[in-house]
Order: sequence, then structure tokens, then C-alpha cells
Amino acid sequence: MNPILQALTDAVGKDYVSDQPEEMYFYARDPGLMPPHRPDYVVVPKTVEEIQAVVRLAHREKIPIVPMGAGMALTGLVIPLKGGIVLDMKRMNRILEVNEKARCALVEGGTSQGFLKAYLDGHHPRLRHSIPDSPGTATIAANLMIHGQGRLTQQYGFNSDMVSGLEVVLPSGELCRIGSCAVSPDWFSKGAPLPDLSGLFLGWFGATGVLTKIAVKLYPKKKLRDVEIFLTDREELVPAMVYELTHTEMVEDINVFAQPKPLIFAGNHHIALFFTGDTDEELEFKRKLIWHALDPFIKSKDGGFMGIPPVMKPTLLDMPQRSVSRFADVKRGGGFEYSGPIILVDKYPQCTRKIVELAAKYDLGYSGMARIIGRGHCMMYGFAFTFNRADPDMMERTRKALHEVSEFALQIGGVFWKPTVEEQQMALEKMDPNTRALMKMIKQNLDPLGIMNPGNWEVA
Ligand SMILES: Cc1cc2nc3c(=O)[nH]c(=O)nc-3n(C[C@H](O)[C@H](O)[C@H](O)COP(=O)(O)OP(=O)(O)OC[C@H]3O[C@@H](n4cnc5c(N)ncnc54)[C@H](O)[C@@H]3O)c2cc1C
Repeated sequence: MNPILQALTDAVGKDYVSDQPEEMYFYARDPGLMPPHRPDYVVVPKTVEEIQAVVRLAHREKIPIVPMGAGMALTGLVIPLKGGIVLDMKRMNRILEVNEKARCALVEGGTSQGFLKAYLDGHHPRLRHSIPDSPGTATIAANLMIHGQGRLTQQYGFNSDMVSGLEVVLPSGELCRIGSCAVSPDWFSKGAPLPDLSGLFLGWFGATGVLTKIAVKLYPKKKLRDVEIFLTDREELVPAMVYELTHTEMVEDINVFAQPKPLIFAGNHHIALFFTGDTDEELEFKRKLIWHALDPFIKSKDGGFMGIPPVMKPTLLDMPQRSVSRFADVKRGGGFEYSGPIILVDKYPQCTRKIVELAAKYDLGYSGMARIIGRGHCMMYGFAFTFNRADPDMMERTRKALHEVSEFALQIGGVFWKPTVEEQQMALEKMDPNTRALMKMIKQNLDPLGIMNPGNWEVA
């Protein structure tokens, strides 16, 4: 056996390491559009000590190492661009503690969104976390790494704003605690009142360390949840509508979508509003305020509420929402990819016109979707295109359309979300040079050998 494989076997056990071609095939790719690249090894550790042993080996031998959750980020962030070791986190999936009164959950670095949701539903029915619409297997750690957004984002910001502590294996193999847990046994803050060091890790795509424990904030889960859809064909009015809605502070989540299919959706922008209550009275009170906020647009005949057919409601209220992957017909080999810049809400009309233009230019199916972040502080505008994996020409057209989206997004003031390596370089090029130098300093100090998820956030 080659000595690296032997050392990895010693670290995690023979059943949890592989260099076999059939496994390398799968770990070479993600479900998005990026070209594959094979790793040399895959390991699936169970403990923090095993991760430390693997990272120390990688450090000693200068082998690249790529942490991986479920591989659902879609933009190639887990593709081992320079080979090396893929560190599959799926066995680190324990929920270590839920503090009901402090509304906090402490989980391991490979715990999935679906697992935490199911656990809370079963054991703490009055608590919930900000679950994204990715498949339930997607991990909490990875979603924080990419500053994801979930069902509570309109109220509380990015999911990574809802963190209250981290444990990290540094690229040297040392273990480090970030936040209140560095001083106290309690995990209640990722920074304040200390200097907030969580920014050395969150958003870096594993290029500065491996998250092994995360404390996430939980929020009240009300007994009832409902959805309304407001329709308008006036895209230029969508920002004003969102402004009025966020002013009510009554809405849990706001998603705006516009797509030509199915036909029932064609020609309109749909503002989906989710709200909750412990009683019918609370729900109706919120509904009234929401209706009232949009009343002027109804009176001016610029929009109206859509009667949601009862069969559609469960789909809309689903968490995570499965309709996203249905739209791409994934089961029959279809795929979808989206570039989602974070951008001001008043850029909605420009974004929506651009997606229509690109879909026509490249002959692609599309869905434009905006998730409001904070009380209208910004939004994630997803330019999503569908493709048929068996059609290389269509895949190429999708790539070209997404490249145009990237250029457009930067040009109108957007900042890429979960950027591909190419987009990371575009962002670094546009970045204030002193900020870029600071990023370089951080990366070089934490990972002087450049072994952590190489290619990502590499500052030349
Ligand atoms: C149908 C669909 C819907 C989606 N909807 C949403 C949505 O509503 N909101 C949203 O935010 N996203 C969404 N996504 C995007 C993405 O799936 C999620 O953000 C998801 O949380 C990513 O988790 P993952 O485990 O698949 O990440 P991965 O792709 O495995 O990893 C992402 C990044 O995190 C790094 N990483 C993983 N684990 C660790 C660790 N323990 N330590 C250090 N680095 C690590 C990886 O190296 C990589 O850089 C959606 C995706 C799909 C396919």
C-alpha cells in the first residue's frame, strides 16, 4: 500500500478511506456545470481527532485537502481542482446539544439541515432554524461557509449571521474555538463582546480551516404557517412593494419569482409571502397588515393577490421546497445552475430584464428568483437556467449565459454569492487593493502551504 493511503487508513480506518476509481469518479464532480477533477483519496472521518490526523498528514506532505458537505453548492466549490484528499464530513452528523431556553443548537461539522429540522420537530417543537431550500442532505456547516440564506433570512439576515460559535481545525491541525465558547462553556455568540474572528473562516469555502462544531441560533416556531402570493406585471414596482411589506415586520420570508413555465406563471412577478402565528387570530392579524400594506397597488390596478389553489399550498409551504429541483426535471437527467449575486433590492427590474434577455439569446429555460435578505437590506437574485445533461451544446449555452450574468452582476453593483473560482478572481480583481492585500495576508498566515481547498480565494 502506498504510504499516504496507509497513513490515511491509520487515521480513519480502512472502511472510510478510498483511492478506487469508481469512488474518485463521483468525488470528482458536483451536480452543477463545472468540469470535473479527480481527487487522489477520499476519507470519511468520524471524530475531530481523525480530522486533525488527516489535516496534519496533508500539512506534512503538502497534499491539498477539500472539505465537503453534500456537494450541493453547485458552483464547483468541492471539486478538488488540484487533486489530493476530499474530506467527506457526512459521518460527523451528531446534534450535541439543544439549549431550549437559550434557543441554540450545537452540531457537528457534517450535520445535515434535514437532520436538525427533523430533530427539532420531534424534540423541540417550539424551535426552528433558518433552513435553506437545498435538499435536506445539505450540511449546516457548508451553508454557513457560503453565507447561505434560509426561511428566516428576511428577518435575521444571512444564515451565517445566525451563528453563535465555531470549532475549527486549522490548516496546521490545531483545534481552535471561536466566539464565547473560547472563554466560556456556553455557546451564545460568534464574536461579541470579543473581537469577531468568525470572519476568518465563514465565507472562505474551507480555504482557512475545517469547521468541526457549529452553534446555530434557533427561533420561535409558531404553530401555524401560511403563504400568500401577490402578482404584478410591473417589475419596476417590485422594490416598492417589498419596501412596504418589510415595513410591516410581519413576514417571515419573501421570495419573488418570475418564470415562463408553467403557463400559469407567465408574464407576472410573484411575491410569495410566508407568515406564521400561534393562533388563527395572530395569523389573520398579520394577513390583514400584509393586505393593507399592498392595498395602494391593488387600488392603482398594478397588482393583486392570487387565489392559491389548495393543491398548490402544501408544495409552497414545504420546507425545504422541492419544487426548485422539480423545475429542472432532475429525475430525468435535467440539471439547473444559478448564479446568485447579492444585490440591492432596487436592482430587481434590471436583473429580471437581463434574465429574459439571456434566456432568449441562448434559447434556455429560466427562472428568476429573489430572496429578500434582512428587512430589505439586499436580496439574492438567482439567475437560474435549466439544461439537459445529455446535450453538450445546451450545457455550453448555459455556461455562456452564466458568464454574462457574472459580468452584468459586477457591473450593476452586485457581489457574487458562492462564486465559482472564475468569479472569485473577477471579484478579487475588482476589490479595493488594500482589502485584497488583507485577504492575502490572512490566507498566507493561516494556510502558508496553500493546502486548503486550493484554487479558492487564492490571491495572487
Ligand atoms: C435545489 C437546490 C436549492 C437550493 N436552495 C438554497 C437555498 O434556499 N439557500 C441556500 O443558501 N442555498 C441553497 N442551495 C445551495 C446549496 O445547496 C446550499 O447552500 C447548501 O447548504 C450547501 O451545502 P452542502 O453541504 O451541499 O455544501 P458543499 O457543496 O458540500 O460545500 C460548500 C462549501 O463549503 C465547504 N465546506 C463544507 N463543509 C465544510 C466544513 N465542515 N468545514 C469547512 N468547509 C466546509 C466546501 O469545501 C465548499 O467550499 C440550493 C441548492 C439546490 C441544489
